[in-house]
Amino acid sequence: MRRLRPAALVVAGVIPIDLMAQERKMAYDLREVLGRSEAKVVARDHSIRTWHERWRTDTRGRWTARLIGNPSVWAGREHGEVDYYLTQFLMGHGCFTSYLYRMGKVGDLSCVFGDSDLDDAHHTFFLCDRWVPERESLEQEIGRITPENIVEIMLSQRDYWDQVATFAKIQLFGGAICDQVLELQTFKDS
Ligand SMILES: [Zn+2]
Repeated sequence: MRRLRPAALVVAGVIPIDLMAQERKMAYDLREVLGRSEAKVVARDHSIRTWHERWRTDTRGRWTARLIGNPSVWAGREHGEVDYYLTQFLMGHGCFTSYLYRMGKVGDLSCVFGDSDLDDAHHTFFLCDRWVPERESLEQEIGRITPENIVEIMLSQRDYWDQVATFAKIQLFGGAICDQVLELQTFKDS
């Protein structure tokens, strides 16, 4: 079975399968001493803590880790669908030239809108000049956004979640922006 990358599991809110197995075994082993329900609680707590520690010290998925510092709070949220656009934002995949560059689709890392030598999810969402009006109106509604606080804001109110999701969608615009990026890049290259 192909192992899912840690960031994909965190975004999906799924505890890694080996930790699940460990948790079940631990709950089983402890049930004589603690009773069934207490054993479950202790085992769950242990696997959450192991998951957090693993996520904190992993070298992969660091953009996602900057956004989602606490995987279990994220996983246990009471609202918020992670759609296609939010997935791209949270994973740092998508029509960011840094990603397209890794995929061999573009020749350099700079933003097609000409304001940065590096275009990635951070640039697009939080910095790019192209999205200043949209970002400003979002911030008027939900407050100043940074990679470190955006998830907390999204989790605080369903409406805030939806507004961030809409912002993500505008920027990624159903893939159309991707064509635009590639078109502009071709234009720049020729
Ligand atoms: Zn830009």
